[in-house]
Amino acid sequence: MANKAYKFRLYPTQEQEQLLAKTFGCVRFVYNKMLEERIQIYEKFKDDKEALKQHKFPTPAKYKRDFPWLKEIDSLALANAQLNLQKAFTNFFSGRAGFPKFKSRKAKQSYTTNMVNGNMKLADGSIKLPKLKWIKIKQHRDIPPHHMIKSCTITKTKTGKYFISILTEYEHQPVPKDVKNVVGLDFSMNTLYVDSEGKRANYPRFYRQALEKLARAQRVLSRRRKGSNRWHKQRRKVAQLHEKIANQRQDFLHQVSRQLANRYDAVVIEDLNMKGMSQALHFGQSVHDNGWGMFTFFLQYKLAEQGKKLIKIDKWFPSSKTCSCCGRVNVSLSLSERLFRCACGFVADRDTNAAINIKKEGLKQLGIA
Ligand SMILES: [Zn+2]
Repeated sequence: MANKAYKFRLYPTQEQEQLLAKTFGCVRFVYNKMLEERIQIYEKFKDDKEALKQHKFPTPAKYKRDFPWLKEIDSLALANAQLNLQKAFTNFFSGRAGFPKFKSRKAKQSYTTNMVNGNMKLADGSIKLPKLKWIKIKQHRDIPPHHMIKSCTITKTKTGKYFISILTEYEHQPVPKDVKNVVGLDFSMNTLYVDSEGKRANYPRFYRQALEKLARAQRVLSRRRKGSNRWHKQRRKVAQLHEKIANQRQDFLHQVSRQLANRYDAVVIEDLNMKGMSQALHFGQSVHDNGWGMFTFFLQYKLAEQGKKLIKIDKWFPSSKTCSCCGRVNVSLSLSERLFRCACGFVADRDTNAAINIKKEGLKQLGIA
């Protein structure tokens, strides 16, 4: 079985908008209530691990008794709030994420619902959702008939647009491909990556221009008096630019990952821990903005669909300091040196040299030397 998600714009009626707002609110309410109660339970039993293990955590059913208005919305949305909180705690305990946070009214609003006994249906420019009935959808691409809808996530962006992400499941057994064409990618802060053939994945110019425009708009916002009309107007503008940039980046990442997945049988990358990396190097937001995580996710499933491979190599492998020609390690190479020079006479662009090493390491893992 394989999964694929499809994202479309939704056009709810005013009445549906009201129910959606209510659903977002209820989901947030239940999530925060459950979190609050969990925190209390942890406080109470923090010195008694056994008692903590025995203790039952709150469920949405309990709140429905205390707050009957929760029954007016899709109950699956509440069940998913519980699952999401559970996931947040699992991530926290495994060290992958910080302690779960309360959901704020200002954050992106969304909820997820599941397919149960045909409660969701797509037909003629509309989608049927639990409690909402038929809601207008702009379906710009078809979902193949052998794809079964598993769940839907409905989101309202900060600029007031509605989207639905439809997760589907389908029977898929790709035939593993013989590995002939292999490419190595070296992560690059400015251009996403440099490949082992020396090519850079440059972000399009309009994207970089939009980033500059956003920076300007943010400066204007910081000068406005907080809460004033002009501040609200500017804030909306900033939110719109953010959305536009996020969409442009996503389009670009889809494009480059598609090209790579079609062209190569295997792609080799370094297994970077972006969270650790951004903290260690004080790059802050920019590493996340660079979209490496999203890119590798796209690449992974686009390759897998075709029976191809994404190879991740150890992040401690000294890819930039090793000569890709003779294997000598140049320990004194500093970050500012853009050219790699080796005693053997080999000279190459620093990132290209790293990408060749990454490719070589991947070939080793594949058993092709
Ligand atoms: Zn050398």
